[in-house]
Amino acid sequence: MSVQARNELVSLLQFSDATQKPDILDPSKTNTLLIQMLLDVAHRCPRPILITALRTDHPTFDGGPGTHGHTQGFAFDGWTATGGDPGVADLLRALAASPYVWTVGAGGAAKNFLSGITFPNDGNFIFFMDNNQDHVHAQAGNLNGQGLR
Ligand SMILES: [Zn+2]
Repeated sequence: MSVQARNELVSLLQFSDATQKPDILDPSKTNTLLIQMLLDVAHRCPRPILITALRTDHPTFDGGPGTHGHTQGFAFDGWTATGGDPGVADLLRALAASPYVWTVGAGGAAKNFLSGITFPNDGNFIFFMDNNQDHVHAQAGNLNGQGLR
């Protein structure tokens, strides 16, 4: 993903930690597939996405399925910046619609806004109920390193 694409992405997102924007801009910190996924999801989501944890600021080691977790720069945690808790349904819908998304986890209050949202059922996509912290986890790529379904 070009520097231009990374710059476009930071202009679309909102950040909760000072390390997140530099991580997005640094190809050694965030994988191309994450940038591709986030750009697509940010364009699909009618509300701005607030990043709640990315790589440097993610509190735990997160290998994720297929080594595509936060620690390797393939995942983000987020919420919507507007609309209160119900606004997160728009982020969940955008993730469900994006061909670049591999894994989605609903944490905390996100679990209350899943009705009517259909995630891919193609044998590769993974949806899971995450912990009780308010966030949506999403991870790019699949086991073959491809971002597309
Ligand atoms: Zn996460």
